[in-house]
Amino acid sequence: MTKPLHIELAHTQGFCAGVSNALGAVDLALEKYGSPLYVRHHIVHNNAVIAEYEQKGVVFIENVSDVPDGGVVVFSAHGIAPEVYAEAKARGLHYIDATCPLVTKVHREAMQFSKKGIQTVLIGHKGHQELIGTSGYVNEELRFIVENEEDIDALVLDVSQPIGYLTQTTLSVSDTARLIARLKEKYPNIVGPPKSDICFATQNRQDAVTELAGHCDLIVVCGSPHSSNSNRLKETAEQLGVETYIIDTAAELDVDWVSGKSCVGISSGASVPQHIVDAVVQKITAVYPDATVARKESLEKHIRFSLPKI
Ligand code: SF4
Repeated sequence: MTKPLHIELAHTQGFCAGVSNALGAVDLALEKYGSPLYVRHHIVHNNAVIAEYEQKGVVFIENVSDVPDGGVVVFSAHGIAPEVYAEAKARGLHYIDATCPLVTKVHREAMQFSKKGIQTVLIGHKGHQELIGTSGYVNEELRFIVENEEDIDALVLDVSQPIGYLTQTTLSVSDTARLIARLKEKYPNIVGPPKSDICFATQNRQDAVTELAGHCDLIVVCGSPHSSNSNRLKETAEQLGVETYIIDTAAELDVDWVSGKSCVGISSGASVPQHIVDAVVQKITAVYPDATVARKESLEKHIRFSLPKI
């Protein structure tokens, strides 16, 4: 008799403390100020979450100038450049800052580097909201953005002056280690942040997927196409040679992927609500009713950040 399908959920996945905080801030702001409530940029990069908030009267905008006079605006978890705060203040808007404290930490490091005249190499995805925000804290003349090895090869820095690097919080741990090694090879005196800028949530989710990849023959990652940390989970599993798919919702899951597999690992990015993962499990177990489902305890069950001032 063949063993029934085993479904294993990544021990640490789904909302991180930064995302829970940002969503908590929007909930409280809606309660206190009602709708329409303006949120600059998608509060987190997940389509289902955005649709749920739009239903509740949240209006997502990209520029503070889109907020009408007297409006209330929430700044997303990804963080913003100083000019954005300045614009909101100049317009007398009431703003709520839902920037994740771990992104704020990178902003502080960036400011320190620029204060000391350190040429700063920012490692991250060009055009990603977090990197755009962090860039604003680095003196323009000292700022260099790199995304890959080619960018590092093309870098021309003044080696007679100090050089440092900082990273986006949601990068691939292994790819970033490779890029940092390349930077160190080219600029041996380069300094980094006191502690890795890749946040614990990113690290824990990639570690959990690595663990699944050790014994699963299929991995399904829940996450929206523009979610940086979710895409890194897919890459992590793929780099370990496991057939992997990323899906935005359970509707995108093709149950045929499961055919002939013995262990299906399921994970989700830091911006993904639990109900999407539950729906994926239900869709698979509807076809494989004998499947066993297991999940170990999350490494982050006690981690909470304090909410911003509403
Ligand atoms: S992924 Fe990391 S940096 Fe981003 S919100 Fe979560 S804890 Fe903060």
